[in-house]
Amino acid sequence: MSLVVRARRVVLPGGERAATVHTADGVVTAVTAFDDAPAGAVTLADDEVLLPGLVDSHVHVNEPGRTEWEGFATATRAAAAGGVTTVVDMPLNSVPATTTLDALRVKQEAAAGQVAVDVAFWGGAVPGNVAELRGMHEAGVVGFKCFLLDSGIPEFPPLDDAGLRAALTELATFDALLIAHAEDEQVIAAAPEPAGASYAAFLASRPPAAEETAIGRLVAATRDTGARSHVVHLADGDALPLLRAARAGGVRITVETCPHYLTFAAEDVPDGDTAFKCCPPIRESAHREALWGALRAGDVDLVVSDHSPCTPELKRLDVGDFGLAWGGIAGLQVALPAVWTGARARGVPLAEVAGWMSAAPARLAGLPGKGAIAVGRDADLVAFAPEERSTVGRLEHRNPVTPYAGRELTGVVRRTWLRGREVDGSPLGRLLRRG
Ligand SMILES: [Zn+2]
Repeated sequence: MSLVVRARRVVLPGGERAATVHTADGVVTAVTAFDDAPAGAVTLADDEVLLPGLVDSHVHVNEPGRTEWEGFATATRAAAAGGVTTVVDMPLNSVPATTTLDALRVKQEAAAGQVAVDVAFWGGAVPGNVAELRGMHEAGVVGFKCFLLDSGIPEFPPLDDAGLRAALTELATFDALLIAHAEDEQVIAAAPEPAGASYAAFLASRPPAAEETAIGRLVAATRDTGARSHVVHLADGDALPLLRAARAGGVRITVETCPHYLTFAAEDVPDGDTAFKCCPPIRESAHREALWGALRAGDVDLVVSDHSPCTPELKRLDVGDFGLAWGGIAGLQVALPAVWTGARARGVPLAEVAGWMSAAPARLAGLPGKGAIAVGRDADLVAFAPEERSTVGRLEHRNPVTPYAGRELTGVVRRTWLRGREVDGSPLGRLLRRG
């Protein structure tokens, strides 16, 4: 196995240039001049760019237990088709939730032998499981997810302030990362209830202040414990000054946002179209533009899908009720073209997008073999045609509901290689440990 790929445009850690990427046994061994290619090398078409395989550190696979929502085989095939060569699975929506070492073993057994790309795992921090955290850390989870309000899943309850601080204090002893769904229960309880088909009513039920209040609690607890934390799926542009100030003050907190917050705007969400329901919600275009600005300024670190599908029945498209529908957006396979379409329209270089979607999530998850085309890294490569347009049709996701349906996007993933082998949907993937 010694794949060699060359292209006129290769996205490397130092920027983009013509190059030949040499690999052996699934690892990059050299990056040389374009003309330095042996017979049998793969030469990309003139309209293709070679990217590092993407790392999506926010995917809800839901197997075992809710495999009818999404499973390892379907999720990882969708990932491969979207240029994602590493998926990090969230600890909730599966049954059992990954909140104990035993549950981690159950999850790993469910995934083994059926993953088309590499998969790593988050553990969960819930009330009463502080004693489980170190064991899961030693077993290789990349960090721990918590909720600061009801998750919608009874087996994954939220942490209150005391629980949050207890988890951070424990995690600080082995420098593990805590990632948090940051919306505040009390702010939401004081807001009007969502009801019916009105998107405006749903938006009003989850105000930006809910994110700001919860992020404020997380910043304070992170500062006081000296731990490391991370805000998942930021939707609220008004929270950026608070995060910027915390980071400038030395608090070890990172931030992600998602393709749907960078693509859609509340003004354009049709009433009754619950494919768009997620929490926190897709906000007005001013928030979207603030998130783009923050990515470019380095105030938001990464972009990952928060792929969180369910069955069409649970989306309640029959009645279009935003109060009743499951909240979660399916977008794993289209994350790259969706973000690239927005980036291209704003004049953002492709190499910067690769940084947000490959290098930064690999760093977050502590996966040093991933995230770049560089000597010693895994030969995870993507042939991407950045000017080709396509319309989103049926995806490899288990369920068809997605707000991207019918949307025209720019940028097509043509081929994907995992550790030097072209992915074809067969189970070439491995289960990864942190580090
Ligand atoms: Zn999520």
